[in-house]
Amino acid sequence: MRLLSHRDPATGKRSFGVVAMDLVITADELASVGGLDATDALLDTYWLLASDDWEARVKAAYAACVEAGLAGRHVSEFTAAAAIQTPEKIVCVGLNYRDHVAEGGRAAPERPILFAKFANAVVADGDPIIHPAGSHALDLEAELGVVIGKRARRVAAADAYEHVAGYVVTNDISARDWQGVKGALRDGEVGDGQWLRAKGSDTFLPMSAIIVTREEVPLPHELPIRGWYIPGSGPDAGTPVLWQDASTSDMIWQIPELIEYISAVITLEPGDIISTGTPSGVGVFRDPPVFLQPGGIDNPIVAEEVAAER
Ligand code: MG
Repeated sequence: MRLLSHRDPATGKRSFGVVAMDLVITADELASVGGLDATDALLDTYWLLASDDWEARVKAAYAACVEAGLAGRHVSEFTAAAAIQTPEKIVCVGLNYRDHVAEGGRAAPERPILFAKFANAVVADGDPIIHPAGSHALDLEAELGVVIGKRARRVAAADAYEHVAGYVVTNDISARDWQGVKGALRDGEVGDGQWLRAKGSDTFLPMSAIIVTREEVPLPHELPIRGWYIPGSGPDAGTPVLWQDASTSDMIWQIPELIEYISAVITLEPGDIISTGTPSGVGVFRDPPVFLQPGGIDNPIVAEEVAAER
C-alpha cells in the first residue's frame, strides 16, 4: 500500500489517502464510502501509524471503496505534505555507503555514525529549503528513510523488519562548511566540530509525501537510489543533472543491523524515521565542488531573508 500525506493549502491541515496508479482515495472517502472509523479519518499519517492495526483497517476501507466503484482523484490535485511531519525522532546515519566513504577519502567507520535531526528540519517534497545566513556550501544527500511502525526496544536484527511500517525518500541537506568538510572550507574557516547545525537547520530534511509500506518492498537493499541537482541559474537552469546513481545494496550497515544498533539504547516509536545514509555523487566531492544555489526547482533553495517573508 502507498499512503499519501497531503495538506489543505489554505489551512495547512494534514490528512492522508491511499494512492494507486496515481489515483488517490482520501481519508474522508475511506470513511464515508469504505467504512473507515471517522476518528481514523481525522488523523494525519503520523498519528495513524501510532494507532494499532491501522494497516488492516485502511486496507479494508480501501478495498470497500474500490468495490463501490470509487475511482479516486489524480495525485496532482493534492498539495504534498511530508509523509511524517512530526516524528518524535529522526536518527540519521553518516558514511553508510561504501562508495560515499571512498569519494571522501575516508576509512569506513567501525560502527554506525549516528546523528540527529528534529521535526523543524522536515519539509514536503517541493517546498523551499531555507539557505541560512552564514553558510555558503549547501549540499544534497538522497537517502532511503525507514519509517518505524511498531515500538522497537532492544530488537535483534533478525526481528527488525517487524518494526518497520514502510519507506520514504529523504534528502539530508547539509551545510558542508559548518560540517567541516575540507572541500567546502574557505581560508581560515573551521567546521562546528559536530553536525547538528550543519544538518539540523530548518528545512534541511525534505521528505517524500508517500510512504510505501513494507509489504511492497520485500527487498529494500536492492533499490536504486538517485539524486538530481537542478541548477537555479546559468544556461542549464532548471535542467536536472543526475549526481547520485547507486543501489541500496552498497550500504555498509543494512536496515536490520541499524535497528538493532539504535534500539539497543534508543527506543524507537511509531513514526520515527531512520535516514540511512547517502551514496556517492554529492556536490562537495565533485571536481570542482558544486553547491546548491537559489532558484533551483523541486526543492528550490531560497535565501533566508526571502523565506522570512513567506
Ligand atoms: Mg546523510
